[in-house]
Amino acid sequence: MTIPATPDAHLMVGTRLARDILIRSAERAAALVGRTGRRPCLATVLVGDDPASATYVRMKRNRCHEAGIDSRYVHLPAGTGTAELVTRIADLSADPAVHGILLQHPVPGHIDERAAFEAIAPAKDVDGVTTHSFGTMAFGLPGFVSCTPGGIVRLLDAYGVDPRGRHAVVIGRSPILGRPVGMLLLARDATVTYCHSRTTDLPAIVGGADLVVAAVGRPNFVQGTWLKPGAVVVDAGYHPGGVGDVDFDAARAVAGMLTPVPGGVGPMTIAILLEQTVRAAEEQLGGAAADPLAAGRPRQPDQ
Ligand code: NAP
Repeated sequence: MTIPATPDAHLMVGTRLARDILIRSAERAAALVGRTGRRPCLATVLVGDDPASATYVRMKRNRCHEAGIDSRYVHLPAGTGTAELVTRIADLSADPAVHGILLQHPVPGHIDERAAFEAIAPAKDVDGVTTHSFGTMAFGLPGFVSCTPGGIVRLLDAYGVDPRGRHAVVIGRSPILGRPVGMLLLARDATVTYCHSRTTDLPAIVGGADLVVAAVGRPNFVQGTWLKPGAVVVDAGYHPGGVGDVDFDAARAVAGMLTPVPGGVGPMTIAILLEQTVRAAEEQLGGAAADPLAAGRPRQPDQ
């Protein structure tokens, strides 16, 4: 699906595309039930009572329900230790009734988050958080991608933004966002520069970018004056009050294309999660071949 750019704001809106992905996922989930009598099932694991995390989990479970995907909710007390969490996730990994596992993060600081992620079986890593998934994504092999990066490249594809040969600057290098989105852009033949908290003269680097991905975690951080006129700007940030990592009004006057917050990258994240859950269930239950539009599928050089 290719969405034409709007003439004024050049906004890359994720809500419509995400809805299309959810509808397609619901159709595939229903078809799987028809073939096997089994519904896809996503296990969501929440440790503690952080209100924002609880809201994210509730949203994901609601979307599952709408798409005909079962969700199993595992809510553990804030004091849960790493060993207990790893055991609970390993149990879900071994449970044939569960096809995908989402550990809501960040987990409380005393937990070894990486150890918990690694307890997710690669075949059920529909949130794309394990080192296995990172490796397959980086090598362009079949597997699951981290959902926000996967959603970003789907959004770029839908709006006809071809990163090939363009200078992409990714601000942020977290394992679930900055790092993988840079790898996915590299796989699409962009020339990728990573920036982070130790980068010097960030505005000058951003000023040379054809494509900017802001994944910093600081509200209104990227200034309009930093941007090259006509640049494509993806704002992956989200802060209370619907504020992103980019100063939207200033960037809008300069950018060629821009994602809004909310309604840009955010809805894509959940859509990719559900799409990958259906794909995991298809693969585990012996369903149909994966959707050719699946987020993790690397683009071939001649495409
Ligand atoms: P994170 O783990 O805190 O990573 C932030 C990155 O930004 C780090 O790599 C850090 O560099 C870099 N950074 C911090 N200050 C900087 C500065 N002054 N200059 C340049 N780089 C700087 O955050 P994250 O999990 O990747 O999330 C980033 C943003 O995306 C947040 O706003 C979050 O809410 C949002 N997010 C949205 C979704 C969604 O579904 N839409 C999903 C996930 C995250 P160092 O590595 O050097 O510390």
